[in-house]
Amino acid sequence: MMSKNLLLFNPGSGQKFIPAIVPEGVRKIPVTVGSVGAEPVLTKLQTTLQYLYRAGFRDVEAHVTRDYMDVVDKCKAAVGRRVDTVFVFGGDGTVNAALSILRNTGIALGVLPGGTANVFARFLHIPLTVDDAVSVLQQKRRMKVDIGACNGDYFGCVAGMGFDAWVIKHTPQRVRAIIGNLSFIITAFRAIAKYRFKKFRVIIDDKEFDAFSVIVQNGPYYGGDVVFTPDASLTDGYLDCIVFKDKRVATLFHYLWAVRRKQQPDTSRAQIVKARTISIPDTSVYYHLDGEPREKKPVTISVEPHALNVYAGEGVKA
Ligand SMILES: [Mg+2]
Repeated sequence: MMSKNLLLFNPGSGQKFIPAIVPEGVRKIPVTVGSVGAEPVLTKLQTTLQYLYRAGFRDVEAHVTRDYMDVVDKCKAAVGRRVDTVFVFGGDGTVNAALSILRNTGIALGVLPGGTANVFARFLHIPLTVDDAVSVLQQKRRMKVDIGACNGDYFGCVAGMGFDAWVIKHTPQRVRAIIGNLSFIITAFRAIAKYRFKKFRVIIDDKEFDAFSVIVQNGPYYGGDVVFTPDASLTDGYLDCIVFKDKRVATLFHYLWAVRRKQQPDTSRAQIVKARTISIPDTSVYYHLDGEPREKKPVTISVEPHALNVYAGEGVKA
């Protein structure tokens, strides 16, 4: 019999898993584990399934996922089978893989925070521990949220062009897995000396700007709980685009300080623009989507309004 719901469980990027089949599930919930190498992973998975079971999600098929493409493939199969909900335990990279496939299918995405930054979970007001997160999902508050499209790929949290993309690209995956966000900060400070800021043109709807870095946000937070775009809404049909026009690092601090004090930053240095489309014709700009570095190429971004069905916590504006 086919299960109504799917749980995709990403125990942590950068870890190695030895293929093995685990014959038993929790309370006769079918569990097919593609690859498991460590006992704690299984324990964590079983605990997660137990929370879901207690919350009334009794028909759940679970898979431990190996990598990004594995999540993509499992979601494609879920779409073919018309499951009701895909629960994803993982970070923003795992969520990215899932939403890329689940967009415009009506299948609900239930995010269980299992990463380091969990930005998408924060956007949705989902608590950062699994048991609390499941309690929120239990309320079955479903809504449709916007996502961003970029060069045929998708993002739920952020697209970054320029400095932050360079930092992400040059932070080794295994370092990220071990020390999380701290690794970006370390790399960022090293990068200030090494990175060669280059001015590029960005076209936002019908306006043109010169920028050294551009960050496109779908919601308010960046990298964790830092508020970058306080007015960003997941449902307004716009992306909030920050244009950094000045290459000094002090500009970033100036910007964040202004945002914190609910003031406008000096627009000769940085500016937030609500956008439906953003394009950067330059071919040599680094970019990332939800923290995953992509091949350098000209960037075309648009918003897909209300494309993704999600479970959300209280207070997310519909
Ligand atoms: Mg928006």
